[in-house]
Amino acid sequence: MTPDQQQQCLSNAEAHCLNQGARLTNKRKRILFLLLDSGTPLSAYQISDAYREKYEHQLSIMSVYRMLNFLISQHLAHRLETTNQYIACAHMQNTEHQGSEHGTLQFLICDQCKRVDESGIRNDILLQLNQELRKSGFTMQQEQLEIHGTCHRCAKKT
Ligand SMILES: [Zn+2]
Ligand SMILES: [Zn+2]
Repeated sequence: MTPDQQQQCLSNAEAHCLNQGARLTNKRKRILFLLLDSGTPLSAYQISDAYREKYEHQLSIMSVYRMLNFLISQHLAHRLETTNQYIACAHMQNTEHQGSEHGTLQFLICDQCKRVDESGIRNDILLQLNQELRKSGFTMQQEQLEIHGTCHRCAKKT
């Protein structure tokens, strides 16, 4: 993502929050920027370290979690349950980002380059998967699907 695209994402995020009657404070914005800038998922501790390095300010890990939870509630960031890491929402470049692109959250996680793809499986298929599971008496705990594997870029290299 180019710096221009990052700025675009941040101003989209700001507009989105305003629309929701929420405020993307400076610190929240910085956390979001760190996630965007990383391009790969980060743990709360990695975020805290990156924050200190870039902004020369120490945030308590509790504040990092609080801000991450805010970003998640606004659909600007997501938490990967399988790795306990956080990523910026891939739909943020979209000006009409309302969080409505999200049916069942889906993440294709490349275990080699750590990149995460947020789409790839059609929503009706995910819906069907959920229904099939329910039919067999199984309830997915999170309405979130995380698939680990190798992305097409890394697959080409091997
Ligand atoms: Zn998203
Ligand atoms: Zn990869």
